[in-house]
Amino acid sequence: MTEILFTNARLADGSLSDIGVAAGRIVSIAPAGAASDAARRTDIAGALLVPAFVEGHIHLDTSFYGDKWIAHKPCTNGFDVHERVAFQAENMAQAAPMAERARNQLELCVANGSLQMRSHVMVDGSVGLKSLETILKIREEYRDIIDIQLVAFPQSGILKSPGTPELLDEAVAMGADLVGGLDPASFDRDVQGHLDVVFGVANKHGVGVDIHLHDFGTLGAFTVEEICARTVALGMQGKVAISHAYGLGNLDLDAARRIGAKIAAAGVSIMTNAPGDHAFPPVALLRGEGVNVFAGSDNIRDSWWPYGDGDMLGRAMMIGYRSGFYTDEELSAAFDVVTAAGAKALGLEGYGIAVGAKADFVTLAAAHVPEAVVAVPKGRRVFRAGQLVAENGAMAR
Ligand SMILES: [Zn+2]
Repeated sequence: MTEILFTNARLADGSLSDIGVAAGRIVSIAPAGAASDAARRTDIAGALLVPAFVEGHIHLDTSFYGDKWIAHKPCTNGFDVHERVAFQAENMAQAAPMAERARNQLELCVANGSLQMRSHVMVDGSVGLKSLETILKIREEYRDIIDIQLVAFPQSGILKSPGTPELLDEAVAMGADLVGGLDPASFDRDVQGHLDVVFGVANKHGVGVDIHLHDFGTLGAFTVEEICARTVALGMQGKVAISHAYGLGNLDLDAARRIGAKIAAAGVSIMTNAPGDHAFPPVALLRGEGVNVFAGSDNIRDSWWPYGDGDMLGRAMMIGYRSGFYTDEELSAAFDVVTAAGAKALGLEGYGIAVGAKADFVTLAAAHVPEAVVAVPKGRRVFRAGQLVAENGAMAR
């Protein structure tokens, strides 16, 4: 029995459909107006109905969104991850409580249409497991509204921060879903030693891996190859992601294609947020080689940069803009990066607009997907398990 019938929904294929929902799942998709019994009806009025966005990379513990403005402090001598980590510790000491800031950021994401998320949470010798404890509670608080995967993220390195291997192990035992990493070469200066810990902990617990990799050029490419080799050796295809992978963005075409084919064969996903001032992974080339490319906001109003609005549709626009995507096919690819590709990277069950899928969707004031990507309409409704949770950028209370 259909509990709610969402009528006159424009689907991505252009059809106008009625979507039946029961027990939080889509139970029917039929041409608009086809007779159907339903206890309740919600008129979508021709708006575009798409699956909820996947926020594939965010930092819930370090954002200052909703808190007082904390002005960005540049590094003293060019970009330096160590110095940025130190600035972050200074800023966090004077910020509002983490739980409050995390709630602000989560609600921003949900209000914009993300109902699935992967968040990296700092686990290192300085904060120990305290940040993870806080974010685990927040995840529980919001479990009916958004699905959250947590990555135990060694922000201060692994080999350089004594005790971190044990903390990563404990973090997974506590409820973190994946093991993170950070620039094995440039930060810890020991690619094999760093990856031994990351993959060792992940393999012990049977969980996935998501590594921050900012290194450019051949150093970045070399690390990507090493991560792919370990993924295959441990049979972890489909469970490993590399976030940023800037090194893929400044290889020559042949080298990029060759490494793209290796990444695809290893079943490793690549996350990009299309950063503004330097090379980033060639999205179209990688997709052409069969690589799953997904996206996230990464930092929102934190010590690393002042940007970010939690809108993954806006992120699709940025990815398309920076990638030089103009055709409808290319714009649809940018949309795929923030939806289906994100779902694949996160291994989500029941994602999409299909019978049997979860009724987690967003309606947009747009005629079709390419228009939605370029216009980024703010007029939208967000439904979780068929229930309205946000409308026009604000949580429904
Ligand atoms: Zn990050």
